Amino acid sequence: MESKLPEKMLGMKLPGDAKVQPVEVDVPKPGPGQVLLKMKAASLCGSDLKYIYYEHTDKTGGARYDDVIAGHEPSGQVVAVGEKVDDFKVGDRVVVYHIQGCGYCDECRKGFFINCQQPERRAYGWQRDGALAEYMAADASTCIHLPDFLTYEDGAMIACGFGTAYQGLLRANVSGNDRVLVMGLGPVGQAAVILAKALGAEVIGVDISEERMAMAEKIGADYVLKGDDDVIEKIMAAADGKGVEVAVDCSGSAVGRHRCLEAARMWGNVVYLGEQGTVTFEPSPLLLHKNLTLHGSWVTSVGNMEKLVELLDRKKIHPSQIITHRFPLEETAQAFEVFATGKTGKVCINHEMRRETEQEQESGR
Ligand SMILES: [Zn+2]
Ligand SMILES: [Zn+2]
Repeated sequence: MESKLPEKMLGMKLPGDAKVQPVEVDVPKPGPGQVLLKMKAASLCGSDLKYIYYEHTDKTGGARYDDVIAGHEPSGQVVAVGEKVDDFKVGDRVVVYHIQGCGYCDECRKGFFINCQQPERRAYGWQRDGALAEYMAADASTCIHLPDFLTYEDGAMIACGFGTAYQGLLRANVSGNDRVLVMGLGPVGQAAVILAKALGAEVIGVDISEERMAMAEKIGADYVLKGDDDVIEKIMAAADGKGVEVAVDCSGSAVGRHRCLEAARMWGNVVYLGEQGTVTFEPSPLLLHKNLTLHGSWVTSVGNMEKLVELLDRKKIHPSQIITHRFPLEETAQAFEVFATGKTGKVCINHEMRRETEQEQESGR
């Protein structure tokens, strides 16, 4: 199998200054415990923009980016298998949990590689080569089988955004007993709407962007409200005057976070998923006297991502419904430009949209 693989491949790096740098590199060889994936889909993430596209914010206290191939939302097909891999074979379709940890610490043993504090922790597209290339070497321990129903684009959605949204809902034990407020309807907010509905909850979505409000309506939110000054009254009216059982902030804004605390009912759960920024609030009326539980939540575990894949398959839900723009790998620079406007849903590189000449070459191989 490996002998049929090309020696060189195209990959994309993010040198900073809003540039995408195409590079020609060797096709990686899968080491022990690794598989080689032919990449099929890789979506762009808000974190790519915030931390590495404009500038590498590690210099200013953000996440670290080592000069690697970018892309941390990978989905692809196994084309070669390294030694000591038993659970994946050539032809398998997978989604990749996008961080590898040391494998030994408390958090890694729980499957929360994201929280690993050891120097071995490396995320695809950040500290090790990622998904914006024709091939990617992935540790089998970070790969999850993709059922036939789910497409590679679905897989890319699951690898980061849907995983993050699902974990937030798990933290609040969301079920059919709940009304769930989703504050902020960007890609993670859209995922939270879809998944809260799948878990049986009634969902209220809030945003200030008309485009995003229209998307939330399309994907099944029960109420979609504009984040104006009177939005709390409107939420209360939609929630028996008592407030929502669960409020999930996906906005990352101070006002959104504050409103989640305001809108939650007595004994409710509030989950902060949106990154960055700050919030100031009065704990007595907003948290203590309401007996609220406030959760911070970051990404998810490998095990929970696997559960999410099963849920989506069982409920027959395609996460790729939140994709608004698709580009071939060669047009990654354009994809970032469009994504950076902030007016899109999810933007996805679909590796199967390659130039026709390339596909001809391939079939002749
Ligand atoms: Zn991401
Ligand atoms: Zn670890």
